[in-house]
Amino acid sequence: MSRIVYVNGDYVPEEEAKVSIFDRGFLMADGVYEVTSVLGGKLIDFDGHAKRLERSLTELDMAMPMSADDLLAIHRELVAKNGIDEGMIYLQVTRGAPGDRDFAFPPEDTPLTVVLFTQNKPGLADSPAAKKGISVISIPDIRWGRRDIKTTQLLYPSMGKMLAKKAGADDAWLVEDGLVTEGTSNNAYIVKGNQIITRQLSNDILHGITRAAVLKFAREAQMEVVERPFTIEEAQQADEAFVTSASTFVMPVVSVDGAALGDGTPGRVAARMREIYLDEMRKAAI
Ligand code: PMP
Repeated sequence: MSRIVYVNGDYVPEEEAKVSIFDRGFLMADGVYEVTSVLGGKLIDFDGHAKRLERSLTELDMAMPMSADDLLAIHRELVAKNGIDEGMIYLQVTRGAPGDRDFAFPPEDTPLTVVLFTQNKPGLADSPAAKKGISVISIPDIRWGRRDIKTTQLLYPSMGKMLAKKAGADDAWLVEDGLVTEGTSNNAYIVKGNQIITRQLSNDILHGITRAAVLKFAREAQMEVVERPFTIEEAQQADEAFVTSASTFVMPVVSVDGAALGDGTPGRVAARMREIYLDEMRKAAI
């Protein structure tokens, strides 16, 4: 059975899904996206993702193409049609296909392109990587200045992953002015004593939906949350480190630029935060 995807109002088999070659998402990366995880056939933190989608669109002078309730219905329909128990729903909204290429935005009544598809990932929550931890290298952060908007301009993050792979590592942390901004596709944290340290929100990083939930749970668990930037050297001397994202939840980091953290195995705080996050989010899933 082929995957059923959503394209501009229609549910179609993936082979039949079509988007115009003039689509500004294709020509100019003029679009935004969200990734929502599915656990036990239910959506994790859908409200957070819908709110951030609206913010990303607003920052780029686009309107929500439909209500959050209608978006939720499409997410659920795709989960049902594709029988997803664990996996992700990818959603992308672009400024549409005005019929020619032009740097200027098309007329406001140009319909936005809305595409959603499922990614089936059995075992997503029980990931072997979470038991082993991941290694990261540092690379310069040369992305644009509005990283708070979740755009589809993902070339540099992709290149970062490839640089990490070539160096024998799992992922890269991006460094600007000597300070870690975030991971290629996740927010970055270090742990020192009872403190969880992560960069404060600004236009320099994506405002992670997982980050917001994890920091709330950390405070509830009497951890001290400190929102400030840190250096690679500080990370290498930390007790532990981790990253968060909607699709990897809380992922322990066990080495930074070749230096093992602690005993080189996932830290206690990262493991605990992963457990709390998964428990609480499963309970709240819709
Ligand atoms: N930062 C970047 C650059 C990302 O791409 C992502 C995930 N898309 C995140 C952080 C984590 O955000 P979230 O927890 O909302 O998935």
